[in-house]
Amino acid sequence: MRTLESLGDLRSKTVIVRCDLNVPLSDGTITDDGRIRASLETLRELRSAGARIVLISHLGRPGGAPDAQYSLRPVADRMAELLAAPVRFVPDTIGGAASAAVSELSDGEVVLLENLRFNPAETSKEASERRSFAAQLAAGADAFVSDGFGVVHREQASVYELPSILPSAAGRLVAKELEVLQRLTETPEREYTVVLGGSKVSDKLGVISHLLERVDRLLIGGGMVFTFLAAQGHNVAASLLESDQLEAVRGYLAEADRRGVEIVLPTDIVVAEAFAADADHEVVPADAIASSRFGEAGMGLDIGPESAATFAEHILASRTVFWNGPMGVFEMDAFASGTREVASALTRSHGFTVVGGGDSAAAVRSLGFRDDQFGHISTGGGASLEYLEGKTLPGLEVLA
Ligand code: ADP
Ligand code: MG
Repeated sequence: MRTLESLGDLRSKTVIVRCDLNVPLSDGTITDDGRIRASLETLRELRSAGARIVLISHLGRPGGAPDAQYSLRPVADRMAELLAAPVRFVPDTIGGAASAAVSELSDGEVVLLENLRFNPAETSKEASERRSFAAQLAAGADAFVSDGFGVVHREQASVYELPSILPSAAGRLVAKELEVLQRLTETPEREYTVVLGGSKVSDKLGVISHLLERVDRLLIGGGMVFTFLAAQGHNVAASLLESDQLEAVRGYLAEADRRGVEIVLPTDIVVAEAFAADADHEVVPADAIASSRFGEAGMGLDIGPESAATFAEHILASRTVFWNGPMGVFEMDAFASGTREVASALTRSHGFTVVGGGDSAAAVRSLGFRDDQFGHISTGGGASLEYLEGKTLPGLEVLA
């Protein structure tokens, strides 16, 4: 992996830096600035080296056209506060305003261009469209730094094509994330426990077969629990269920058994009357979800207290823990306990703890935990899972 050193002296050089500034916004206000903070180290270093910095990023999924609610403007303001330096925002990526702003940069100055995904070429399926967008972005620049770890698993213009046009290197964040992932895949201290949850069930089920080769124990919470419980023959009422994955899940359970990997499922579930913050709810055994007083309308929205305590014990008995995906609908107070207990156990662990995933990182912060209570909080959920799966990540491959 080429690092910043490989780019040589960057004084007065125009350097494009691809960050992942995809922060959660609510009415134009940034609710978690973790990804902006994670970008600072590289930017500070480039500024003190005298580089002229052109920051690029995506935000959300605007669908290839300008959409004010996905503008990066609020990010420029927050970035300027955190850097304690001006960050000029340009409401454009490859037009005249952008090239003018770039050519006016002095040493150590920073501009942030508008959301890359306002241009459909950024995420186009056609390599030729992505290449021509990347070439336009590269015009007038001397080097490229890839520091958007959350997107390195994407074959997109600013991630995959741009680095092959300019002299390019990994930024400090990408290098740090990679170091952590290598530690998890190559030399994890045992016992190694992975905690999986969240709502992207079918995405994450695929990870399980690869993890079974590497870990000692899998703790399953969040939305995917119900596909496991259903695979064991239990009625999960109105809970999230991927019926077409039942066979695959039975296969994982059998394979785990063969390999001696423990798959720990919750023994109790918080079942609610509806998907709402003020919904009536009760705790029932995991094998009797339909017996709650809401009957077939009941939906499991969190793991129960007994399960949370069991998960915490397993976490505290492990030397390495990787956690992706909230244990329940943590955005609603009534269903946040499982996620809070798991997070708390990670903070008390003396082992190496890694939290990966946009919502997981946002969850631990919104529940009042500090970043430094964990070994590492990854800025990329999909990217870290794909790496742990053993996949080749296009955005890293081009920096090799
Ligand atoms: P990450 O971004 O950390 O990878 P995901 O995007 O997969 O995590 O999932 C996060 C979402 O999962 C949260 O918004 C949370 O509300 C939701 N979730 C967790 N448990 C459940 C559940 N039992 N039913 C429905 N949604 C759930
Ligand atoms: Mg998510």
